[in-house]
Amino acid sequence: MKIPFVDLRLQYHNIKQEVDAAMSSVMEDTAFIGGKYVKEFERAFAEKYDVNYCLGVANGTDAIYITLKTLGIGQGDEVITVANSWISTSETISQTGATPIFVDINPETYTIDVDKISEKITSKTKAIIPVHLYGQAAEVSKIKKIADDNGISIIEDCAQSHFSEENKKRVGTTGIAGTFSFYPGKNLGAYGDAGCIISNDSEFITNARMYANHGALKKHEHKIEGLNSRLDGLQAAVLSVKLNHILNWTDSRIKNAALYTEMLKGVEQIETPLIRKNTKHTFHLYVIRTTERDSLKQYLEEQGIQTAIHYPTALPNLKAYEYLGLKPNDYAVASKYQNEILSLPLYPELEKDQIVYICQSIKSFFK
Ligand SMILES: *Cc1c(COP(=O)(O)O)cnc(C)c1O
Repeated sequence: MKIPFVDLRLQYHNIKQEVDAAMSSVMEDTAFIGGKYVKEFERAFAEKYDVNYCLGVANGTDAIYITLKTLGIGQGDEVITVANSWISTSETISQTGATPIFVDINPETYTIDVDKISEKITSKTKAIIPVHLYGQAAEVSKIKKIADDNGISIIEDCAQSHFSEENKKRVGTTGIAGTFSFYPGKNLGAYGDAGCIISNDSEFITNARMYANHGALKKHEHKIEGLNSRLDGLQAAVLSVKLNHILNWTDSRIKNAALYTEMLKGVEQIETPLIRKNTKHTFHLYVIRTTERDSLKQYLEEQGIQTAIHYPTALPNLKAYEYLGLKPNDYAVASKYQNEILSLPLYPELEKDQIVYICQSIKSFFK
């Protein structure tokens, strides 16, 4: 059996008629940039999230950067974020001129350790970017309390957590903004790069829209210098089609994750993912942990099973952050886990017999 880490072709074939028709309409209408397909997606996404505004942008990285810039964050400021994430979360902080301040991860949930946030807050702290990693909701209600007490903004990085929830509230709706990536492999994925920002704050979203469009709300009226960061019509049309399926796909991810966890029960050498109480974990990734990670990965590869690592180097340990002079021991959990985590294939279309095969392979490795 050969099992790829992700299989986007399968999903495309399941919705081919709808997607082909949608893309064809965009081309017939030549609505490539701006226009009704982008407006329609922004409206539909905001409605699904029950928020006032959604702004389509070019990708999930820009979504964070635009949000930071719109909040006026820059040189001399500090922004707190988490030690294990994709580099977009921290590089956008640096790009504004601010300094990323990393917090270690919680050993059970793998998201930001809320008990270690307060000690990192200084007079320079302007914002905090929790990441709802792998689909697991970070502890947003606790983070909100800390942020409110200290007068700092929350930007939720939801690139891996479309439709995840904490206490029945969707992640991305607590802070000033929720930022999303629609990179093809994400739970809601376009057929190219795409992203968005959601918010309930009208002034914030107006300024973000302006910044993302060369600093202009009306053509040629540039109030500031900005960016060219647009969601394009073709991507918006694909996303609108997929938005009708996302909740079903999410259910399938959750079921597949449950099957893994059930089947891997009793394998002492591995930790399966914990689903934090009162949350909906949407399983962008199914991440197990074992001290024999590298040899297990190799073994599974030989069995035809593709796996991945998210992420092999915790952010503070990357060469890119050498200049901050941080020590791996200051991020002890993230530094340990970077050598132990392994992401197994997980997508809505994954079949039960494939999961069974993967779990049997894992068991035979440890035998
Ligand atoms: C994918 C991802 C991003 C960036 O999204 P792009 O659309 O690739 O720019 C940001 N943060 C996290 C946690 C991600 O996984």
